[in-house]
Amino acid sequence: MSQNLITESMVFDELKKAIVETLNVDANDIKPETSLINDLGAESLDFLDINYRMEQSFGIKMARHFVLEHVEEMFGEGSAIDEDGALTDKAVELLKLRFEEDVPELQAGMDMDEVPALVTAGSIAAGVMDILESLPEKCTHCGASDWKAEGAAVKCGACGEAAVYANGDDLIKAWLEKVQTEKNLF
Ligand SMILES: [Zn+2]
Repeated sequence: MSQNLITESMVFDELKKAIVETLNVDANDIKPETSLINDLGAESLDFLDINYRMEQSFGIKMARHFVLEHVEEMFGEGSAIDEDGALTDKAVELLKLRFEEDVPELQAGMDMDEVPALVTAGSIAAGVMDILESLPEKCTHCGASDWKAEGAAVKCGACGEAAVYANGDDLIKAWLEKVQTEKNLF
């Protein structure tokens, strides 16, 4: 079902807090199009920290692996990244679908090490929103259909248990299966 307890702007505000606490930057410098690496100087460990903070706030499990890592695992080594560490045409096509917007830097032959710089505050917030949209219609503990938001956490109004969402990696895999069925890229 599509949940309407947690809005996109609540997610973005929570993400800004997580980024400010992790990177010690000014909240006003964080826009949806801000690249955490290029604009805010984030390093890979910082992503773990930011993800952890989002998991604590929302009671979710963020994806541990990038989309292209899942592609390699599902469709075979070399399907997304060639032997020189460059993105294949198909990987680029896939990432364009994933980002749902024009990313000029995204070109076939691009080095895979440059991909993390494409991660923006907006793309992280969209990933969180995807997870929140997996809120089941009924509480998995008591079967009631009575969700309530307490800050960023969603709880059952009947039994008080926290909502259980799909985890980020499973949602990426499900998305890849759907894209593969529709477009037969790999
Ligand atoms: Zn319940």
